Parts: sequence; C-alpha cells; structure tokens
Amino acid sequence: MSRTGSTIRTATPAAAAPLDVQRVRRDFPILAQSVHGKPLVYLDSAATSHKPQCVIDAVSRVYSEFNSNVHRGVHALSQRATDAYEAARGKVRDFINAADSAEVIFVRGTTEAINLAASSFARPRVKAGDEILITHMEHHSNIVPWQLLCEQTGAALRVAPIDDRGQLILEEWERLLSDRTKLVGVTYVSNALGTVNPVARMIRLAHERGVPVLIDGAQATPHIPIDVQALGCDFFAFSGHKTYGPTGIGVLYGRREHLEAMPPYQGGGDMISSVTFARTTYNDLPYKFEAGTPNIADAIGLGAAIDYLRGLGMDRVAAHEADVLAYGQARLAETPGIRPVGTADHKAGVLSFAMEGIHAHDVGTILDLEGIAIRTGHHCAQPVMERFGVPATARASLGVYNSREDIDALIAALGRVAEVFK
Ligand code: PMP
Repeated sequence: MSRTGSTIRTATPAAAAPLDVQRVRRDFPILAQSVHGKPLVYLDSAATSHKPQCVIDAVSRVYSEFNSNVHRGVHALSQRATDAYEAARGKVRDFINAADSAEVIFVRGTTEAINLAASSFARPRVKAGDEILITHMEHHSNIVPWQLLCEQTGAALRVAPIDDRGQLILEEWERLLSDRTKLVGVTYVSNALGTVNPVARMIRLAHERGVPVLIDGAQATPHIPIDVQALGCDFFAFSGHKTYGPTGIGVLYGRREHLEAMPPYQGGGDMISSVTFARTTYNDLPYKFEAGTPNIADAIGLGAAIDYLRGLGMDRVAAHEADVLAYGQARLAETPGIRPVGTADHKAGVLSFAMEGIHAHDVGTILDLEGIAIRTGHHCAQPVMERFGVPATARASLGVYNSREDIDALIAALGRVAEVFK
C-alpha cells in the first residue's frame, strides 16, 4: 500500500503486493513534463489513459518493421502482420478470459461495439412492444444506440433509477425486468460517478428470465480483473485507449452462439467467404464482423498494453487504485465547499464533485494552470447530471500511475480555486 502524502490510511486487499508507482510512472514518457510551468498531474484517465513506452514501441515497430495487410498476402511481411494481429486477439481473449479467440471482435471502441450489438443482435429480435432495459447511470454510448433501435422498431427504452449516492436501485431494476425485456445493457463502472454495479448478480437475474445482457466495460477493464465466462455475460464492450492502449481500437466480446446467429454489421472485404452477384457467403467468426482492413497496428498496441497490465498484475493495479481512491475520497470529504457526486459503497477510479458556487469549468481551468488535468462537464452522461441537479461536475479520475501525492496536489490546488472565488 502506498503511504505517501498524508496520514489517512485505508485498507487494500491483502492478497496484492504493493505496486511501485514511481517505477510505473517512469514507463509513461508523457508524464515527465511540465504544464504551465508545473509538473503535470494527470487525473483524466477515465477520458483516456496514457500509454506506456512498450505500447508506443509496439505500434512503432509495426510501421518500421512489418507493416502489411493481414489475412491476404503470401509474402513474409503480411504473414508477420497477420501473426501479430491474431496474437493480439489471443491476448484479449486471455485478458477477459473468453473461451475462444473467435469470440473477440476488434472494433473502434466501446461505442462501435455497442452499436454492433444493437444492430446485429438486437435489431432482428426486437419488435414493437418489446423493451430494452438500461440504468440511469449509462454513458451516452449505452443509451443512444438503444434509442435508435427503439425508434426503428417501436420498442421502448426502460431506465432503472439510481439513489442519491449514485447506486443502482436493484429492486427497481428487477421490477423493470419483464417478459417484454429483450436485452439488458448496463455499465460495469460508471464514468461519471465511479459506481461499480453488481453486474454478476444482474446477469444471473436477467438470465433467470432468459434475457441477454451486454456489459459496457469501458471503465472496468483498466481497473478490475475481467472474466467474461465467470460473469456469464452475453456481450462485453471495451476501449483500448482507456486501457493503456491506442485510440481507434476496442473489442466486442460476444458468446459464440450469439455471434454465429447474427448477421454481419458491415459488408466489405475480409468478412466474406465467397462473393458472386447472386449470393455472398460470410466468413467464419470473428472475421464476419471485421469488414475491411482492420486497425492492425493499434490492435497490436492493445496487445502490448494487455501484456503490460498483466505484467503489473490486475489485482495489484486494483489494490493500488483502491488505496488512492479511498485516500482521495477522504481528503475531498475534509475539504470545505466540496460536494462529492457519487458516493457508492463500491467504486472504482472516479472522484466526481461540485464546488459550492463555482462552475466546474472554472475549477478545471484554474487547476489546469496548476498543471493538474481533470475533466469538467457532463461526461457524456447528461441524465446523471440531471439526476444530481448539476449542469456539470469536476471529475478527477485515476490510472495506475497516480499516487497519493497527486491527490495532495489536487486538494492544494482546490484550495487555490477557493481563494480565487472568495
Ligand atoms: N461507456 C463508458 C462508461 C465510457 O466511459 C465511455 C468513454 N467515456 C464509453 C462508453 C465510450 O467509449 P469510446 O468513446 O472509447 O467508444
């Protein structure tokens, strides 16, 4: 456990040995810089995480050593590119414990993954009068694709409420689960509140009623070890760029029987088995869903990010972040004029707050001058803002490279914000 910065102490899971955060920081070249003449304190990993040197090198090596198209060439470079791309798929399979690499589809990110599931899985099964069940704490990416689906089919979107601490009211959610529910979509971790939802239990309850479940894992994969088989989810979506990998790459995991039954999402090269003008037959999984030249280099970069995280150990990452988060919550609680937004019992990675009488954007702007990067705004979760009666929050979010010192810097700078607005 990190004991730097202050005397506030919090428990970490006993199984995990402490992470050497100073060593971790040295793996991320971007962190060794000053912003506005102050050392950078990056507290915006929920928006996007930074990349360790090994990821930068992996992407660079693709272009300098074996750049080529995959699955098509007989030449040596194409074979190397194909092997590296498919090896990255295998790394994702192991990272989320999918049963088979064929269940791992590379997409652009969580947003595309959810849209793929909405179009190819839900659309053919949903008709007027059916329902899609989500929660009040979803990111717009797990709201709007379902609204589009409802507009196209006449189905209805049902939204389970959250309480004043930002926790799902599970009994209400269960009450909304009915014969009409055709799919449940739920975020594992809320990007606006940090709430960790009881997804394993929700999946069990939904499956008891025969309802498939899609998990938005965008804010979970950087913080929590994932086992899609233990969870039993039908779909799991995540983004590479929030998990120390490149932008433009993400994953839709789907259970094989669903993926086999689904029509393709996009048509084009690579997703076909044979094409005539009379009839096209489709390629095997996962290629059926990867039309066109994929994002080869960034998939390989994501593979490197997974190697990196697994090298650190996800349990150790989770324990380290739990310590910094609890420390941050305690320090914010003792800071005058701060109203935390999202105080669930079970949280990961996110400290959202409002400052009395000061707009979140002003907080963010002043913190930036102190070299501290946070996010301000609605965090693509406008219904959450409306639920808490604020137009925006300031959000400090954590990555594996953050320490208690970063929290101390944040608290000191918030003191300066308060001075400016006195
Ligand atoms: N869901 C959640 C919970 C998120 O935090 C985000 C990104 N902020 C997304 C979905 C969308 O991810 P992306 O923009 O990488 O597609």
